[in-house]
Amino acid sequence: MIDFSKVKAVDEDVYDLIIKEYQRQDSELEMIASENRPSEAVLLAQASYHTLKYAEGYPEARYYAGCENIDKTEQLAIDRACELFNCKYANVQPHSGASANLAVQFALLKPEDTLIGMSLNSGGHLTHGAKPTLSGKYFNVVQYDVEPTVMEIDYEDISNLISKHKPRLFIAGASAYPREINFKELATIIAQYNKMLYLDLIGQGKEDEYEDKKCYFMVDMAHIAGLVAAGLHQSPLEYADVVTTTTHKTLRGPRGGMILTNSEDMIKKINKAVFPGTQGGPLENIIAAKAVCFKEALQPEYKEYMKKVVDNCKALAEELMSRGVKLLTNGTDNHLILIDLRDRDISGQELENRLKQVGIVTNKNAVPFDTKNKKTTSGLRIGTAAVTSRGLNEEDMADIANIISICLLSEEEYKNKLLSMQEIVADICSVYPLYREDNLIF
Ligand code: PLP
Repeated sequence: MIDFSKVKAVDEDVYDLIIKEYQRQDSELEMIASENRPSEAVLLAQASYHTLKYAEGYPEARYYAGCENIDKTEQLAIDRACELFNCKYANVQPHSGASANLAVQFALLKPEDTLIGMSLNSGGHLTHGAKPTLSGKYFNVVQYDVEPTVMEIDYEDISNLISKHKPRLFIAGASAYPREINFKELATIIAQYNKMLYLDLIGQGKEDEYEDKKCYFMVDMAHIAGLVAAGLHQSPLEYADVVTTTTHKTLRGPRGGMILTNSEDMIKKINKAVFPGTQGGPLENIIAAKAVCFKEALQPEYKEYMKKVVDNCKALAEELMSRGVKLLTNGTDNHLILIDLRDRDISGQELENRLKQVGIVTNKNAVPFDTKNKKTTSGLRIGTAAVTSRGLNEEDMADIANIISICLLSEEEYKNKLLSMQEIVADICSVYPLYREDNLIF
């Protein structure tokens, strides 16, 4: 039961906003690919008394007394994370995905070292070297794009970039890439480069410099963590030196981050980089919720859920393409699609606005080599993780595809059908309430 009456007694303004936000979420379809609808168990663990406790340090090695229950909770989260992703070590303290990525960069790079990451327009995340971020300002950044005709990762181009720029860190992973990423292939490219580097250094009698020059392989699996957990995407843990993730996207946990590895040497570096390197006290209430999320993700029902997320996404892609809507890479392997608007008169921003009017919440997204600016864009990103958590199925995807195709028509045709589209969305929302009403006390 979620009882907000005590908030109301103290602060009617915030209470009102909490209720309005709940009603908005319940009456609209959240199709932002990075969002989800976690269980009430996850929500309640976040609201637990663990939030009161300061616990700088790690289990059994804290800087504060009174951590006996906190230690057990964090150890549970670590053990479950390792079981879920079949790896040896986990740091569950990063406050977010950006914090996890910062910690890895702080652990492995010195200022002005070279890192290679995917460009924003091709689907990479800001923290993979984009100019306005710390990663873009403190390091020498080289960005890779997708191949311009098929719009998929170009492994040969990446191999050439690595040989040319000799990075200390290569980052794979994306926020807006609808296809499976071949981590094995990337690991092979990096291993080959490191081998050549080592032989070269031996040739110069400088093999003791290898550790300071080799390229590390980091995967940011924030978007696809749920697919990896469910065995629906190649796991990066077999291939990468270090893997970062968020816990709130497809994984369906609390908002937060995590770092995983199979290397003892790496986890030592990472632990120091998270605390005291880049964070202070961990959010132990969120860590409790992460532990709950991992337990849920270890159940067979979670695999079923993730399979439905991908099936819904593929169904949505097919339904859209059958209505003449162009998608980047002509489809999807995962939980998201990208509508390519480059040959239409409507921008990503306009389509986002029209869909919001109807009750479908999405986000405009640049497409690779986009000629429109970041505020308008020529694309729209749509994900199926959150609506699948509510229970939507492939038939609902056909209705949603139909609505999207109408939103792409002329202003007049769109306006003529606005009311009927709003009714369809309202119907779907009432069939699948966000949470079961009887569990919620306002
Ligand atoms: N990494 C990827 C691939 C992401 O898509 C995101 C967020 O969307 C992040 C990192 C950052 O996560 P957070 O918003 O928790 O900092």
